[in-house]
Amino acid sequence: MNRKLLVIGCGGVASVAIQKCCQNSDMFPELVLASRTIEKCDALVESLKGKTKTVLSTAKVDADSMEEVVALIRRVQPYAVLNVALPYQDLTIMEACLSCGVHYIDTANFEPENTEDPAWRKIYDKRVEEEGFSALFDYSWQWAYAEKFEKAGLTALLGTGFDPGVTSVFVSYAKKHYFDNIDTVDILDCNGGDHGYAFATNFNPEINLREVAAPGSYWEDGKWVEIPAMSIKRGYDFPEIGQKDMYLLHHEEIEALGKHYPEIKRIRFFMTFGQSYITHMKCLENVGMLSTTPIDFQGTKIVPIQFLKALLPDPASLGSRTKGKTNIGCVISGEKDGKPKTIFIYNVCDHEACYRELGSQAISYTTGVPAMIGTALVLDGAWRKPGVFTTDEFDPDPYMDMLNQWGLPWVVVENPETVE
Ligand code: NDP
Repeated sequence: MNRKLLVIGCGGVASVAIQKCCQNSDMFPELVLASRTIEKCDALVESLKGKTKTVLSTAKVDADSMEEVVALIRRVQPYAVLNVALPYQDLTIMEACLSCGVHYIDTANFEPENTEDPAWRKIYDKRVEEEGFSALFDYSWQWAYAEKFEKAGLTALLGTGFDPGVTSVFVSYAKKHYFDNIDTVDILDCNGGDHGYAFATNFNPEINLREVAAPGSYWEDGKWVEIPAMSIKRGYDFPEIGQKDMYLLHHEEIEALGKHYPEIKRIRFFMTFGQSYITHMKCLENVGMLSTTPIDFQGTKIVPIQFLKALLPDPASLGSRTKGKTNIGCVISGEKDGKPKTIFIYNVCDHEACYRELGSQAISYTTGVPAMIGTALVLDGAWRKPGVFTTDEFDPDPYMDMLNQWGLPWVVVENPETVE
């Protein structure tokens, strides 16, 4: 059977996903690494020489170009494509997979690079009005491919990172094994790591800052409630980390869980931030550095947030300096056998242990490992069915087993602290 995988993108998350595929070489006997900067793919292959049975090769591709991606897929003839480039490329790569008849996997939902594009904005404005949340990303663009993937007999697995990805699987696992009915879900993302810089983002700065600077929103009684950015703050005592402040954000798994689990009355997402991060972000936002609209600077068009990205530390370089742990999980309340019940399912990941194992920090690690797991489950058939799906729509058990096996062990605590 053809088990050749084409991986597009070679940044922080890709580096972990690729190294994990190489540890799992029975499942992944052959990988082709393709990205815009081929030198990054070549360097990763070089660092893996003699350490894996997986056969590796590299290619250069601009994944914004349908023609280039289609030509690459036709030449490589993979079974599936793992897209760990940026959300901007999701639709191009999905289209290319469809036209070449290969399965598709990614870790983040589509977001346009140019939010001033009138064609995109018209659809966006309608969605904001109808749905009531204003995030720049949403699943509608990729869910629109469901029928095409179904007809082609292909699987598109969306958002198999940690959040979204593992957090959504935590909810389906809780539903399968712990609850008759789920009433509320609070997804908590705590990065207790310290990289020693006054300001840096732990994944792609452009994507990260766009997400954090946007209004927050949560799902309640079948509809969205939107709030000003960072206006709901709570404290939580995270196991193995301690007390942290966290803020309510919009997050993509809320959309999928709200659709697939209509019984859930409220779904919220909280992320921890230190005061230094918030002060820097507010200042950058106030001076216009988070803007995605190109400006003319001395005769050259520049996008402020892309210029900022060039100034900030590369997230992939934070590994060697980051100390501390992440704790990401779900506090889930509901009913079992007529009695109220609350559990907290979470994973704790240690930045320094990730760096020792793969030369990466924990944010890339916690995303790259589930990217490998989701891809493996599509390849081996356990999570393969025609259509477009998120991770909460499959049997959670094999995914949960693989998290334990591949470096992201999880814990279930009954009667945990809840979030007010
Ligand atoms: P990086 O910026 O580190 O890496 C992105 C990679 O994609 C780079 O190798 C970049 O190439 C490549 N790339 C960008 N544009 C193109 C293009 N047009 N054609 C080909 N390659 C391209 O990002 P991360 O690794 O931090 O993030 C990767 C993905 O993971 C993102 O979609 C992010 O949103 C998602 N993510 C998901 C999380 C989750 O839990 N679900 C958490 C964190 C991230 P170049 O080297 O030339 O810049």
